[in-house]
Amino acid sequence: MSTDECLFCRIVAGRVPARFAHQDDLVVAFHDITPRAPTHILVLPRQHIASAADLTDLDGPLLGRLFAVTAELARDADVADRGYRLAINVGPDGGQTVDHLHVHLMGGRAFGWPPG
Ligand code: AMP
Ligand code: ZN
Repeated sequence: MSTDECLFCRIVAGRVPARFAHQDDLVVAFHDITPRAPTHILVLPRQHIASAADLTDLDGPLLGRLFAVTAELARDADVADRGYRLAINVGPDGGQTVDHLHVHLMGGRAFGWPPG
């Protein structure tokens, strides 16, 4: 898929509106359009990586930033003390519907385990 066709690339480029929570040179975060929890933020690399299945050792610095930003957003949203759920869906059985790697940061309620 080209970045022209990818919904999250279009959001990153400012061509589709979103409620941004964070933007830097590597990582972007915005609120999920259909929140499944009181806090539901998507954190993603600016560059198009289709899924977690495509990651390599070379993505280490990017992933460090991605998870550091995620932790900061959890603190900013006041969900860090009670805890929260991070989820990365991979492929059809994993429930991935947008093929641009993203971490779901969900908090503000308790989550069951295992997820459905
Ligand atoms: P996944 O199913 O793991 O690929 O997650 C995709 C997420 O993107 C879902 O939770 C959707 O609600 C969310 N989503 C879809 N379109 C938009 C959009 N335009 N703005 C923000 N979030 C979106
Ligand atoms: Zn993309």
